[in-house]
Amino acid sequence: MRTARRILTYVLIAGLASTTASAQTGSGLDGDHAAVWYVRQAVCVVRLGDALLVFDYQEAVGMDDVTAATPRTLDHGLINPEDISDLDVFVFVTHAHGDHYDPVIFEWQGEIENLTYVIGWEEQPQSHCERFVGADADCLTMGGLRATTKVGGLQVYTIDSDHNDIPEVAYLVRHDDWVVYHNGDYMADHVADYAYLKSINDRIDVAFVSGLPGRRWPHLARAVHLAREFAVPELFAMHFRDREMCETFVAEVAADGVTAEVHCPTAPGQRFVVMKGGGGQ
Ligand SMILES: [Zn+2]
Repeated sequence: MRTARRILTYVLIAGLASTTASAQTGSGLDGDHAAVWYVRQAVCVVRLGDALLVFDYQEAVGMDDVTAATPRTLDHGLINPEDISDLDVFVFVTHAHGDHYDPVIFEWQGEIENLTYVIGWEEQPQSHCERFVGADADCLTMGGLRATTKVGGLQVYTIDSDHNDIPEVAYLVRHDDWVVYHNGDYMADHVADYAYLKSINDRIDVAFVSGLPGRRWPHLARAVHLAREFAVPELFAMHFRDREMCETFVAEVAADGVTAEVHCPTAPGQRFVVMKGGGGQ
């Protein structure tokens, strides 16, 4: 991500330089299409109708290309809460590491009318919801293993990981017919956990997976298993060091027989349009 090349590997909607909130966040998409932004590291954003799902937003890691002159827009990899103030915004945090969690998200309170935080772990003695969220937003803590909750038209499920001695989750989020998976840094028994998720829904429309190649860690095996078990038309690699690493990951996924489209987004704020059931627009 050090280079700011805009590599249009798929569908990048250009010309959305409008400053209106709706244009910034992809209004005009019908119910069969979702807008997806890759921001940086594990920061991924999905717009489904009037809902905006924001995963692991942070402005600390992978910011090499951001300067004082960078426009504060989602298409440039930065969220300005004013631009999304008219949407139902759901902010998900998978775990407390600085490349996945940034207290800056709590500064959006008061700017967005319908704002909900979903925190994937229980913090003692006080949850992040209790510590950081006031009357202007809703906040849910998803403590415990394989937690589930319903909030604002979303059904949210977690699977759990503690390989770094802190609680971490991956999210499965269902909104109407759409199903989105965000891996965070989840690294547990994916065979058992994906069987559990498959019992909930056997299709995933948009999946964000750790794009780290090689077989030393099970990132590749996990992504391949996910693609095989669910009818996943779109895999978005994230959390890779550079484009070369991501391309190696894509090649290895393909070599394992996965036919799903695997994207290597590298430009901060790179935007894609995903069609339900697969295929671009
Ligand atoms: Zn991480």
